[in-house]
Amino acid sequence: MKAAVVTKENNGKVEIKELDIRPLEAGEALVDVEFCGVCHTDLHVAHGDFGEVPGRVIGHEGIGIVKEIAPGVDSLKVGDRVSIAWFFEGCGTCEYCITGRETFCRQVKNAGFSVDGAMAEQCIVKADYAVKVPEGLDPAQASSISCAGVTCYKAIKVSDVKPGQWVAIYGIGGLGNLAIQYAKNVFNAKVIAVDINDDKLEFAKELGADLVCNPLTDGDAGAWIQEKVGGAHAAVVTAVSKVAFNQAVDSVRAAGKVVAVGLPPETMDLAIVKTVLDGIQIVGSLVGTRKDLEEAFQFGAEGKVVPVVETRCLHEVNDIFEEMEQGKIKGRMVVDLKK
Ligand SMILES: [Zn+2]
Ligand SMILES: [Zn+2]
Repeated sequence: MKAAVVTKENNGKVEIKELDIRPLEAGEALVDVEFCGVCHTDLHVAHGDFGEVPGRVIGHEGIGIVKEIAPGVDSLKVGDRVSIAWFFEGCGTCEYCITGRETFCRQVKNAGFSVDGAMAEQCIVKADYAVKVPEGLDPAQASSISCAGVTCYKAIKVSDVKPGQWVAIYGIGGLGNLAIQYAKNVFNAKVIAVDINDDKLEFAKELGADLVCNPLTDGDAGAWIQEKVGGAHAAVVTAVSKVAFNQAVDSVRAAGKVVAVGLPPETMDLAIVKTVLDGIQIVGSLVGTRKDLEEAFQFGAEGKVVPVVETRCLHEVNDIFEEMEQGKIKGRMVVDLKK
């Protein structure tokens, strides 16, 4: 089978190689991959940013059909459509795994990083950790929900925003556009979209954002949101920008919550006085659990959330990385492994 593997040099590229798939072990299933999205995380893995993994098959936005199950597996059957996500497997027994916070398991395995991933014609999964894709959800769109979608869905869950309340979404890229859809169509919140690109704000309006703010023309988003709505009840920051994080803190009302999702390699400024006197909460949110993904998929199947995807070929992964580095990509590039 063909697979995209990290080069020996860990130079931010992959090579397409012919690999043999090993026999299944207890608890595993073999999946014929249909689609796998290309994520910024894959680019980090190819660069060795999280540690060097030469020879690793990348890919954690995989969707495919179960071809074979190991003896004794009863959570999946041949023919099921399943996901291969970044949260590949937890230990199953630690305090995080048994309290609904399995993505924080200290022994976590991540597809396409600590184990071979889904940017390949075939992939081996732990059957109990592969989430089924519901009927009626397009598999290429499901690929995008398995990473960006569930990340946004979970972040809005963590924000505790209630129907009719205001949530500010910072950064309307591959994550933010899905965050708007989940916030509006699933959580019934009112949405303020914040971005420094007017095209993205136009897109946000099309997706139903109630207000849009461009800090380059409207001024500091924190002050703007305080003036317009008296402060947001919550803010979700997908932007990879320290400035966005700082403005997000300034944009929430007392007892508001700021959910950090984007990963700029910097620190944020945090006024202790405001944090204490206004009772502000700041919390990180990391992808989502199997249950979160099951729910995020279901809302996709019901048409409440529609990811924007474009399908490409396996040999184009390095081109997609380049387009990504140049910021040229709108929506998600999804490799069609059957092409
Ligand atoms: Zn991803
Ligand atoms: Zn664990």
